[in-house]
Parts: sequence; structure tokens; C-alpha cells
Amino acid sequence: MTVTAHVALGSNLEQPQLQLQTAVAAIKDTRHIYNVVCSRLYRSDPVGPSEQPDYYNAVVGIVTTLAPLALLDALQAIENAHGRTRSLRWGPRTLDLDIILFGNQVIESPRLTVPHYQMRVRNFVLCPLLDVAPDLVLPDGQPLRALVDELGYQGLSVIADNYPWLQDSRRFAASTAAKNC
Ligand code: ATP
Ligand code: CA
Ligand code: CA
Repeated sequence: MTVTAHVALGSNLEQPQLQLQTAVAAIKDTRHIYNVVCSRLYRSDPVGPSEQPDYYNAVVGIVTTLAPLALLDALQAIENAHGRTRSLRWGPRTLDLDIILFGNQVIESPRLTVPHYQMRVRNFVLCPLLDVAPDLVLPDGQPLRALVDELGYQGLSVIADNYPWLQDSRRFAASTAAKNC
């Protein structure tokens, strides 16, 4: 069975935009994952401890034949390969990969909650998700676009439009205002 799933990427350590770029490449290279489409690249204020660098965020849409926990295993292996350590909750990290949606499935298991429990309140997840799935409707019937309209783009900037994101740091400095999304 193939399912369309969505994965949120975040990084705020060690060349975050490069971390995200290589993470997308690793996702594309994963067996049983196909049709990877990537959002624009965003920068956001940190969640949790505020004395940490801004985050870089993106979302990918994938088609997969993996079961949900097998997808989580694959994503955690990619996090580990990117030097992810888990010390402080919501602390700085080289790479965070969260399963946001797995088709229309609702999953409650010790290792996995889908839809992601915080997705509705995180514009750094919803806005890039809208890039790759503008007509998406959540499993409970709510249109994604309505959630984005409600939450807005506060604290969020678009850094680059097309994946692979621009390497040129001058373009990062001249980042587009998010309200122009
Ligand atoms: P948050 O979950 O608030 O975004 P976090 O991403 O920093 O925080 P992690 O330390 O990366 O949290 O993950 C803790 C555990 O969350 C993981 O080991 C995983 O088993 C579990 N988890 C539950 N639901 C999901 C999901 N939808 N995607 C990824 N991990 C999940
Ligand atoms: Ca997370
Ligand atoms: Ca996580």
C-alpha cells in the first residue's frame, strides 16, 4: 500500500540549511520512499529555551510503502547520521525530523503520535506544509489553509524559494518578508 506522508525538518546547529539539504537528499535516497517534494526554506524563532539560534525549517511530501514505525526508524537513522543528540527538551539540534501526517491515519502509539501533536500551533510546520500540499485537508476534516490563515506567519521568514536551497549567504541576508508568501 502506498501512502502520501509529510515530514517536517528543523535544524539550528552546524550550518542548518546544509543540514536540511543533506537530510532531504537522504530522504530521497531511502528505500521505499518516492516522489519527494520539498517546500521553500524558512527561518523561525526558537521554540523552548530561547537562548539558542534561530531554526531553519522545511517540509517534504513523500510517497511511501513503509509502515509508520518503519518510516520513523528511517527518519531517526537520518537524524543520528546528522549527529543528533537528545539532551535538553526542545534544545538546539543539528536535525529534527517529525512525521506530521501519514495519509489520513490517526496513530497513537508509545513511539508515534500522528498527526503530530503540535502541528496546529506551529506555523513553521503549517506554512511549509501549505507549500507542498495547498489543498490538504487534515484527518479531522479541517482544511490546512484555514489553519494557516488563523495562525499567520509571525516569527517566520522565507529564506529561499526552490530546493536545493540557495547556498549564497547574500541571498539569506536579503530574505523575503514572510508576509509576501
Ligand atoms: P516535539 O515532539 O515537541 O516536536 P522534539 O521533536 O524535540 O519535540 P524528539 O526528542 O525529537 O522531540 O522526539 C521524542 C520522541 O517523539 C521520539 O523518540 C519519537 O518516538 C516520538 N514521536 C512521537 N510522535 C512523533 C512524530 N509524529 N514524529 C516524530 N517523532 C515522534
Ligand atoms: Ca520536533
Ligand atoms: Ca522530533
